[in-house]
Amino acid sequence: MSDARSHEASPTAPRADVIPVPAVPRVDVRGGGRFPVHRIYCVGRNFADHAREMGAVAPASKAERGTPVFFMKPADAIVTGEVVAYPPGTADLHHEVELVVAIGHDAAPGVLPVEQAQALVFGYTVGLDLTRRDLQAAAKAKGLPWDTGKGFDHSAPVSALLPAADAGDYAAMALDLDINGVRRQHGELRDLVWDVADILHELSKLYALRTGDLVFMGTPAGVGPLLPGDHFHARLHPHGLVVDGVIAPARGAAMLAATASARQQTSLSKGAADGHDE
Ligand code: MN
Repeated sequence: MSDARSHEASPTAPRADVIPVPAVPRVDVRGGGRFPVHRIYCVGRNFADHAREMGAVAPASKAERGTPVFFMKPADAIVTGEVVAYPPGTADLHHEVELVVAIGHDAAPGVLPVEQAQALVFGYTVGLDLTRRDLQAAAKAKGLPWDTGKGFDHSAPVSALLPAADAGDYAAMALDLDINGVRRQHGELRDLVWDVADILHELSKLYALRTGDLVFMGTPAGVGPLLPGDHFHARLHPHGLVVDGVIAPARGAAMLAATASARQQTSLSKGAADGHDE
């Protein structure tokens, strides 16, 4: 034992926290209770219709899929309220509506067998994988990580969770997203390139899946910009799960400048969306 340690009152005494314990983000569960969030995993490039929109050939078999694209958001990126502040550092905030899978059990050590994956699922929700597309595009161009484009504060609005026991087969579900009352995205979950069991199996090769994890399953075609003042309304059919809110203006003149820039880019955003692949 070092001299420094020998000066402590008692090496076996419990240590007190020196700061308050950070709040655990929680998502309401339909029917009662709350779901504490541990980690947020996200899947990129996971909708066949979007792959086709991109001009890519949708994989004809599982053997042709390669490996899925994963990234993460911090757990406290979760938003359960109705107001999302326009984030700093971007002039091109994008929406991506997605099925979100909630994990209700720790996976056993090792690789999770595909046939055991569904048993880990606590439930489902609908969420927005908000993206600072300009930062992500710059990172991609330089071969750098996507963290600043994806894993920022308030980047994961979600609805209440629907327990799996009440949900039926998720492959029968569909996603819609309206912005200011206009349909912008629609996806059928049967069109996922990597289904939920496949994704949990693949994640388990890289991470220990734990109780409280959320997995954003990837977005269908139609991603595009969100501007301050925009109203978003996302639904998971047929269960009526809804994320509904507004993008609030951020503070100060810098925000106004970013807004002006974003509006100038709106006409270009369709083209930008075509270059998107999450
Ligand atoms: Mn996404």
